[in-house]
Amino acid sequence: MKVVKNMYQKNLLEWYQENKRELEFRKNRNPYYIWISEIMAQQTRIEAMIPYFKRFVSTLPTMKDLAECEEDVLKKLWQGLGYYSRCKNLQRCARVCMEKYDGKLPNNKRELMGLPGIGPYTAGAIASICFDEKVSAIDGNVIRVFSRLYDIQEDVTKSKTKKQIEELVNQSLYEPVSEYNQAIMELGAMICIPKNPRCALCPIRKDCRTKEPAKLPVYPEKKKRKIEKKTFYVLVSKEGMHLKKRGESGLLAGLYGFEETCPKDYIEKIPLEPYVHIFSHVEWHMDGYLVFVKSGKDFYSIEDIKENYALPSAFMPFFNQSVNLLSKKAKSYDKIGN
Ligand code: SF4
Repeated sequence: MKVVKNMYQKNLLEWYQENKRELEFRKNRNPYYIWISEIMAQQTRIEAMIPYFKRFVSTLPTMKDLAECEEDVLKKLWQGLGYYSRCKNLQRCARVCMEKYDGKLPNNKRELMGLPGIGPYTAGAIASICFDEKVSAIDGNVIRVFSRLYDIQEDVTKSKTKKQIEELVNQSLYEPVSEYNQAIMELGAMICIPKNPRCALCPIRKDCRTKEPAKLPVYPEKKKRKIEKKTFYVLVSKEGMHLKKRGESGLLAGLYGFEETCPKDYIEKIPLEPYVHIFSHVEWHMDGYLVFVKSGKDFYSIEDIKENYALPSAFMPFFNQSVNLLSKKAKSYDKIGN
């Protein structure tokens, strides 16, 4: 399948110039900003991610600041975005850039792809948006637009189909490529959306081959998530609330959480409202207890936890319920010395 040059690209670019969202991080093509924003946007909607982005770059405005940042501060800045391995990779990447590239990101897709946490999409986005390199940046939006534009009926996760889409996108590249790549992404985000695409408003509808856009792209049937039953114990004492650093492997590795065994010598145990937390491949069906104990190691005041410790969202309902219960139970609240 061949792209007919100049067929839809011009219309797409004109539409983009008139309709693009004013995104703070794209205003001045700062590679550091583009990189941070692209990593943050991998699992989060752009609108939801903007406050995180602003906080992150005002706390860590340079590559050097990121490379030297304390682990707990970094995790706190990332709290709410999930997938903490991405923020670890950000710091690894910043350290490599400090050592090898004079504190800057390299200006081409090939070298960018050699850095921790930077895959072909992110490398293509940085290289094309910031450095005008004529390379593609293929994310989920681009896959959706191209699978519809060319009516691709094959499973887009198969390597043959991925290659086909990549070739089509590469053949379609149009100058200025920084604008063109963003225009396809924007079309996927604003018009060629997953459900109910707005074809009547689409600037490339005349060239679009699909008759049933809502059925594309084709993905394999989703596997059912594995269900794991979990019980967590929120320990509180006169010193505050206990946090436990999780092991270095498995889900939420290296992050703070609560104990999974109840101490035998507890003073009082109150059941918390159970809930389900959904990860990409696993569901945690969680029971929890607020447990009063005499004392122990690693207890922190509630304020300290709120300000300085990044509790993953999987634990926030038990944390919030415990804080509410403690504030209602004035006598017990005294017990945690807040
Ligand atoms: S016409 Fe519809 S399906 Fe085709 S690219 Fe535009 S929005 Fe997507």
